[in-house]
Amino acid sequence: MHDEFTLADLASIERTTREVGETVLNLVSRRAPHVFQRRWWDDRIMSWAMKNESVKVQMFRFIDVLPMLNRREAITRHLQEYFEEVHEHLPTAVRLGMQVAQPDSIAGRAVAFAARRNALGHARRFIAGTTPAEVLTAVKRARKARQAFTLDLLGEAVISNVEADRFFQAYVELIENLAPTINAWPEVPQVDRGVESELPRVNVSVKLSALDSQFDPLDAEGTTRRVADRLRALLRVARQHGAFINVDMESYHTKDLTLSIFKQVLTEDEFRDVGDVGIVIQCYLRDSESDLVALRDWARERGKPIWVRLVKGAYWDYETIHARYHGWPVPVYRRKWQSDANYERQTRFTIRNFRYLRPALGSHNIRSLAHGIATARHIGLPPLGVELQMLYGMAEVEREAFTALGNRLRVYMPFGELIPGMAYLVRRLLENTSNDSFLRASFTESLSAEELLMNPLEHSGEQPGDRPIHVVDESSPVRERLESIAPLQLPAWIESFENEPPSDFAVDEIRRQMRAALATVRERFGEHYPVVIGGQERKTSESIRSINPSHKAQTVGTVGSATAELAEEAIIAAAKVWPEWADLDVRTRADYLLRTAEFIRERRFEFAACQVSECGKGWREADGDVCEAIDFLEYYARGAVALQGSFGDADVPGEENRFEYLPRGVAAVIAPWNFPLAILTGMTSAALVTGNTVIMKPAEQSSVMAAWLMRAFVGAGLPPGVINFLPGQGEVVGPVLVKHPQTAVIAFTGSRKVGLEINASAAQASAGGPGCDVKRVIAEMGGKNAIIVDEDADLDEAVAGVVTSAFGYQGQKCSACSRAIVLAEVYDAFLPRLIEATKSLPLGPAEDPGSRIGPVIDQEAFNGIHRYIEIGKQEGHLELDVDAGSLANEGFYIGPHIFTGIAANARIAQEEIFGPVLAVIRADNLDHALAIANGTEYALTGGLYSRSPRNLKRAQREFRVGNLYLNRPITGALVGRQPFGGFRMSGIGSKAGGPDYLLQFVLPRTVTENTMRRGFAPTEQP
Ligand SMILES: Cc1cc2nc3c(=O)[nH]c(=O)nc-3n(C[C@H](O)[C@H](O)[C@H](O)COP(=O)(O)OP(=O)(O)OC[C@H]3O[C@@H](n4cnc5c(N)ncnc54)[C@H](O)[C@@H]3O)c2cc1C
Repeated sequence: MHDEFTLADLASIERTTREVGETVLNLVSRRAPHVFQRRWWDDRIMSWAMKNESVKVQMFRFIDVLPMLNRREAITRHLQEYFEEVHEHLPTAVRLGMQVAQPDSIAGRAVAFAARRNALGHARRFIAGTTPAEVLTAVKRARKARQAFTLDLLGEAVISNVEADRFFQAYVELIENLAPTINAWPEVPQVDRGVESELPRVNVSVKLSALDSQFDPLDAEGTTRRVADRLRALLRVARQHGAFINVDMESYHTKDLTLSIFKQVLTEDEFRDVGDVGIVIQCYLRDSESDLVALRDWARERGKPIWVRLVKGAYWDYETIHARYHGWPVPVYRRKWQSDANYERQTRFTIRNFRYLRPALGSHNIRSLAHGIATARHIGLPPLGVELQMLYGMAEVEREAFTALGNRLRVYMPFGELIPGMAYLVRRLLENTSNDSFLRASFTESLSAEELLMNPLEHSGEQPGDRPIHVVDESSPVRERLESIAPLQLPAWIESFENEPPSDFAVDEIRRQMRAALATVRERFGEHYPVVIGGQERKTSESIRSINPSHKAQTVGTVGSATAELAEEAIIAAAKVWPEWADLDVRTRADYLLRTAEFIRERRFEFAACQVSECGKGWREADGDVCEAIDFLEYYARGAVALQGSFGDADVPGEENRFEYLPRGVAAVIAPWNFPLAILTGMTSAALVTGNTVIMKPAEQSSVMAAWLMRAFVGAGLPPGVINFLPGQGEVVGPVLVKHPQTAVIAFTGSRKVGLEINASAAQASAGGPGCDVKRVIAEMGGKNAIIVDEDADLDEAVAGVVTSAFGYQGQKCSACSRAIVLAEVYDAFLPRLIEATKSLPLGPAEDPGSRIGPVIDQEAFNGIHRYIEIGKQEGHLELDVDAGSLANEGFYIGPHIFTGIAANARIAQEEIFGPVLAVIRADNLDHALAIANGTEYALTGGLYSRSPRNLKRAQREFRVGNLYLNRPITGALVGRQPFGGFRMSGIGSKAGGPDYLLQFVLPRTVTENTMRRGFAPTEQP
């Protein structure tokens, strides 16, 4: 896009910008700033927060948890816990004060009282009211000050349909209740008149994600259908009452979908002529320019202008961390001046396109706003042609100054309850105290007018002009900050490893590729995949039919069913090539893994689509499994190379010592169906790269996916016999593989029952004989995992985390949560939200991106889960039973089930169910909760949602599980980041995807040579 302003234009705009800016600054300096007035800013806590980043973090965390703390004792305890961690940064007086303020003392109570009052005071500054009456007062006050308003409803994260309905209804009522009153008030021309016509007085800012609990770009069509319906309804109410609807912008993930729904609805005949609507463009986004151009083109085509609120964006830290976490490109500019410069650029574009886009500038930055005013003047737009917008509670003096200069200024007024208001409050506090904040720079750092009004491009050394500003400074302080965000604490040898980024299904093209892959896989339905031994395809008299659990009449493929004889042959074939394979340089073996990873990466959507069809996995889960498979290949390849070179020189003069790892021999890999590609790939590649040869025995239910993996290895050029593909019935081939004298390693993942049987029979079969080792068994078994919800937990997060962990992939993960242990204090708040959130999960076939609950794997699983549901009914109360309805005939569907009133030792609280069944157990306190959590035979995963630093530490010590997750879901371990595996009855061996996993596949050995001959030995090389 070209700016379409000449250098002379820009110079003139720049001059006016400075003039306007200086005028405003002069007005501002004569009045006491509100947010930054002494009383507020001198408030001790805030001033420490400004001085020290770690104090600030603790401070804001404390404010965040405060509304959940009902007892004074809890408030003082949290205060102490938070500030304990930054003790040395606090002033001496405060340290002493904290020592005397024991939770149950008088001083403690006083501290609690002051803390609560303080936080409430802060919240009130940013929230216009909690009731409609209070809002009306705030609105009246604003109009009296010749300022317009837009209303925002604060609320908890919308995680259920009931909550979405409530939000929608609240928006409707807001308009219906306020409009008649406000429209009857006398006109305020500066507020109510636009350039061409009157403006609606009631203006509501709406978040589309609040209108639908399943707002998800993955299911763009379904989300659009539902949200568009609600937006239409709101637009009708707005039209009826002469109100304005503005669509706010949230995280980047939802941006494209939000824009698309907005455009779609407003293009429809019924709404084509609606002009009292607006949408937000966030100028910290690199996409903002192209989005704005597209919006202009669309508005021109539509024939009626819309409003555009230009902001920089409220989620900079989140977007940066989120993108880095997933390995995605960071969508926001990295340096503040870039956002500022882009803001100005987009301001010029919007103002120039006034005929189609009506500009509303949402900012507290005097330079940014002055630049908008200057641009408008330059092209001859009347002052009311550009609207200025600011947040309630921020920069009141600026508001007054801009109003005094004749601009229309609209105040964004959030209203609602305190608890949901805290998230909003913390965002505002972060914004105000950020090092990059204009407000902070102008009011607390006393920068000169010259510095405050500087053209942002001057920070870059660029000249104002038509140059794009996509410049990333690799040495910026921001970059340093980024680098400190997610340091991976891994041994040096694995440092070059990076997790495969998951597919970003918010991108249209990625969804298209996934749909195409599903079609390709469907075309291959019914294909036959034979047993492969020593590189030869082998015919079998029987085959396994692998069916689609979403549509049980569909055959995904047939797979040869190996006999015991073939199993024996496979072992012999593997043993035959083993010496040669073992002799290869480890780098050569690693290279095969890397090539296999590349093979899969190139076909990642087909691999994901295959498991959607064969295993009933949803898109995201299937994509995650493919990424994990690639990760295992990449991680173990690097790990094996590093392992061989990981020991230092132990030579002394006259003696050479060599420590090395030898491959064990033939490995039998016996895999499950629930991570049909990842687990099979992980166990197989670990065995291979360390020099073992492999018999790959997949689960019957996921044999087609396994056959694809076999083809990937072959496609990567793996020599014949190094892997032998042996699909078949576990009872037929399993015992042969486990007991055969030539089998040196058995890597198994599956049920506890089979795992223990394998362990026992491998031990028995290790009877010795020439060349035989004691068989090494690596077994990942089951879990009975719990999430504890502490009394101060963030319930938005805890409910969502339990839902994801319990019902993701229908609970068919060994890491799944099957017990939610909830502290009594929050039990009654937690349970209804959990039930509503779970009820809202759409049930349907896995290939439909709108389904959140798909089928279970097969009839046997279906029957087994139903048996447990019946047991649960005897043992407790069935709170939720989502009926699969007509889907029951189509596939193996079981809706989520939630039980309460379950004793800690009940069967459904002790035995692994492997389905969408959750027991919610009430605990008196954390001691009780930990005792329940630890009180099973398993120790795989576990979680705690808590905002108490002490309780989080306690869980680290006392919650005995292999993978403990704090304040996040307990599934979805990533290779390298969260090595996975448990103990007790959950597993034998070290963790998959961890630094010591490969050691299980090798034999350590030392070779010592005496190099001295008659008193003479080779000297050390320099
Ligand atoms: C009326 C109104 C409505 C709003 N609605 C929305 C909305 O719908 N969606 C939304 O996301 N935000 C919205 N905002 C919030 C707004 O994004 C922030 O208040 C705004 O970004 C603060 O910018 P500023 O111009 O006031 O201050 P400044 O201090 O000039 O700018 C601060 C902003 O710069 C950006 N920034 C900070 N550090 C960096 C960096 N290192 N690199 C690049 N950029 C950086 C961030 O966006 C940060 O917020 C709204 C604001 C107002 C006033």
